[in-house]
Amino acid sequence: MKYSFVSHLFCPKCEKTYDTKEQHQLCSCGSPLLVDYHWDQIKENLKREDLLTREPSLWRYHELLPVEDSNNVVSLGEGMTPLISMPTLGKDMSVENLFMKDEGLVPTGTFKARGAAVGVSKAKEIGVKELAMPTNGNAGAAWALYAARAGINSTIVMPVDAPVITRNEVASSGAKLYLVNGLISDAGKIVAKAVKDNNLYDASTLKEPYRIEGKKTMGLEIAEQMGWKMPDVILYPTGGGVGLIGIYKALKELKSLGWVEGKLPRLVAVQASNCAPIVKAWEEKKTESEFWQDSSTLAFGINVPKALGDFLVLDAIYQTDGCAIAIDDQSMVEEQEKISRLEGAFICPEGASTFVAIRRLRESGWIKEGETVVALNTGAGIKYPDTVKVEVPMLEKEASIYEDHKDLVK
Ligand SMILES: *Cc1c(COP(=O)(O)O)cnc(C)c1O
Ligand SMILES: [Zn+2]
Repeated sequence: MKYSFVSHLFCPKCEKTYDTKEQHQLCSCGSPLLVDYHWDQIKENLKREDLLTREPSLWRYHELLPVEDSNNVVSLGEGMTPLISMPTLGKDMSVENLFMKDEGLVPTGTFKARGAAVGVSKAKEIGVKELAMPTNGNAGAAWALYAARAGINSTIVMPVDAPVITRNEVASSGAKLYLVNGLISDAGKIVAKAVKDNNLYDASTLKEPYRIEGKKTMGLEIAEQMGWKMPDVILYPTGGGVGLIGIYKALKELKSLGWVEGKLPRLVAVQASNCAPIVKAWEEKKTESEFWQDSSTLAFGINVPKALGDFLVLDAIYQTDGCAIAIDDQSMVEEQEKISRLEGAFICPEGASTFVAIRRLRESGWIKEGETVVALNTGAGIKYPDTVKVEVPMLEKEASIYEDHKDLVK
């Protein structure tokens, strides 16, 4: 059995093609490159049913992934995260069929591990010895750790106020770590220079073509977990937008394989009110976004003032009759606590933003009664220990909680 049916890289802007056996970054026209496959061969060699007996990781879809030799797979068991029904929360927002794809359960605690697993594996396959990337924290943590497993050196630059836990993950991997007093866009400029001066492999968002292939497995899994029936709406907390582009790519690929039928789900990009370039562009019906000045949000993973793949994100939204919506930080934190209380799931603020969005879109009637809705929780709440502020009663030693709270006990 052939491990992958990868064919070539292509440019979604100018249609130029490239070889997947060589190292490529952006197209000569400046656009990100996408991966294509030999669809006829996949159709002949792979059936949906074949998946039933495979391992519960994203590598179950290896024919649709770019790694050609299974010996190059660098895995920590990522993928096949649960798709959980959220009945109590759903009732609270009048969305009966509400599901959460929980990416808090992958190695490194965010879905970034998917992009890192496939991106680092392919980097290993094409002979990369040293990579560099800017990050808001979670991607850097995932790439540094997967690179460590692959024996690839990495250089990571992150904003000084990226979550400390991500800084520690990167440092513990043995990567070269630098902090910058600025945003991910500033880190990006420093990395771009380092890449040029030292001939490093640039693993920045969408500057290498394979991270998106890892992220697309979220879309493959949602379809498989729903029994190859697509939901009506999928919401995604959008920073660089790779996850959304990936899910869109996955669903189109499944359609071309004939594994799913009908209309694609309406894709919704959820952003933070103080960093919403995609939302602004969508509201103005533009095909590209503008740099968002002085962006800030506690949902660190979506603090991306200008995404390289913005035109692909907007295209995915337009093509599926989706929308884009901005959510303020306060509402995210309130929703995060509500989800813990109602469903016992402690999710990240980025993930919580998608549930606020569902609430708003249901209120406005954009989400209709009876529709099936899937929200992506992109990471574990425990990676953001300080977003929840609580006051806890302090007891004297040997105090009796029962006596103090008798009124509360039936
Ligand atoms: C990176 C990140 C996002 C945004 O992902 P993109 O695919 O780059 O848009 C969302 N949530 C979390 C927790 C992240 O780390
Ligand atoms: Zn091009």
